[in-house]
Amino acid sequence: MAKNIHSQAHKLLRFAKHCSKALLYLVFPPICLHCGDPIEEKSLIFCCDCLGRLEPIDPLERCPYCFSADFYLEKKVCPECFRCTPLLNRIAAAFDYIGPAADLVKEMKYGNRPYLAKGAAAYMAAQFYRLDWPTPDYIIPVPLPLTRWIQRGYNQSHLLAESLSKFLNRPLLNGLHRICGDFSQAGLSREQRMALSPSSFRFTKKVNLEDKCLLLVDDVMTTGSTLRCCAEILLEECPKSIYGLTVCRAIK
Ligand SMILES: [Zn+2]
Ligand SMILES: [Zn+2]
Repeated sequence: MAKNIHSQAHKLLRFAKHCSKALLYLVFPPICLHCGDPIEEKSLIFCCDCLGRLEPIDPLERCPYCFSADFYLEKKVCPECFRCTPLLNRIAAAFDYIGPAADLVKEMKYGNRPYLAKGAAAYMAAQFYRLDWPTPDYIIPVPLPLTRWIQRGYNQSHLLAESLSKFLNRPLLNGLHRICGDFSQAGLSREQRMALSPSSFRFTKKVNLEDKCLLLVDDVMTTGSTLRCCAEILLEECPKSIYGLTVCRAIK
């Protein structure tokens, strides 16, 4: 079983790297997305060095609840999760929000390159298989404010969730909607982001979530407030558990 999971994770990592390679003709000029060095093999979006740095975080080195690196090894929990019970059962990310991984997300989000979501989701799937999490009944993307969606033309979290649902062979549920907070979080202070409330979201009931295991998907976890607000709304539907997976986790 463990061997199967490992080989699945390995296959997905290979696929993620292949996705980075497969899009070469869309990249012009052929320079590395992160360091700007020329890329000899034109099928890459990263140079070999940067591609080699895209190794998912080892879950054993993080708080199992929020994925913080700052945790008590002996208690296997971070000070924050030790103080108060987290709302989500678990939160994890494929990478920290630095280096090539951060540039991958920024390009996917702000560089009008929605196709990068497939490769990023493959890394998320690879990370999912390394976590001791149950198979989700539904994969739910974190919604984007409508005007942001119109402006960008796509919701990167939706694209990530869509690809992840294919990799994990689990259904996508597009049931969460943003009803206010119509702004970009990137321009907000930590305090303003923390001010996001569950009333910024609503769930459109399409299926019964009672006793279901849910997996929330977002691009970056900054303070975790967005995931918590979404979880709070979903908890009204009485699911069995809620997990959150992102491509990157911001470093505080
Ligand atoms: Zn590079
Ligand atoms: Zn924690």
